[in-house]
Parts: sequence; structure tokens; C-alpha cells
Amino acid sequence: MTLIIKGECIDIKDGTCTKVCPVDCIYEGGRMFYIHPVECIECGLCESICPVDAIRYDDEVDEKDVVFVAINREYFEDSVTGLGAPGGWNDKTTTRIDHPLVAAMPPIKLQD
Ligand code: SF4
Ligand code: SF4
Repeated sequence: MTLIIKGECIDIKDGTCTKVCPVDCIYEGGRMFYIHPVECIECGLCESICPVDAIRYDDEVDEKDVVFVAINREYFEDSVTGLGAPGGWNDKTTTRIDHPLVAAMPPIKLQD
């Protein structure tokens, strides 16, 4: 089990969750952040602090969001970023790359 970030983060991406993660396992892509499925220690701090409710335990996501379980996992694989398991965020792990399904999603209209 791990926690995952869902589509509510897309184009919001304020980074609040990264400030509370004790193991720095939340990584920055182009349009959203992604949680490393192995490095996450499931403390739940990020879920409690996200202002747009974008974070869930992977076994608690709604049916419409199940795809984000694979999106978070595949983001680190060779087919997307090839980051593997860096052992925690650092300057070199920040990318402008997104999972292809995220990159293809229409821009999120922010409310005035
Ligand atoms: S559950 Fe804890 S360890 Fe996992 S991403 Fe959130 S803050 Fe980091
Ligand atoms: S706190 Fe929520 S909206 Fe902000 S970066 Fe993390 S997942 Fe995205």
C-alpha cells in the first residue's frame, strides 16, 4: 500500500504536501506531483494537508481515480522519467515531464 496523488493536483501543484513529507518522496513533474510507491512510508501527513483533497491511500480511491495508482507508479519507471528510486527528492529529480495520461489532459480551469 502507498498513497497516491490524483487529478485535483493538476495545474494546482502548490507543493504544500512536499513540506510535510518526512522522507521527501513526493516528486515534481510538469503539471502535478507524484508519490513514490516504494519510498512512501504511509504516514498520511500529506493527505491531511492537501488543500484540494488530491491525496488518498491507494486502496481508498474512487473508481474514477483508480488510474492514478498506475500513473504515480509508472511516473518513476523507464517508460516515463526513468527516475527509479532516487531515495528522496533533490534538485536533479525535478522534471517538466508528466505521465502521458496527465500530459494529455485538458488544462484545468482555475476558479476566479
Ligand atoms: S504518506 Fe507520508 S511518506 Fe507518504 S508521501 Fe505522504 S507525507 Fe510522504
Ligand atoms: S498539496 Fe495537493 S495540490 Fe498541493 S502539490 Fe500536494 S497534492 Fe498537489
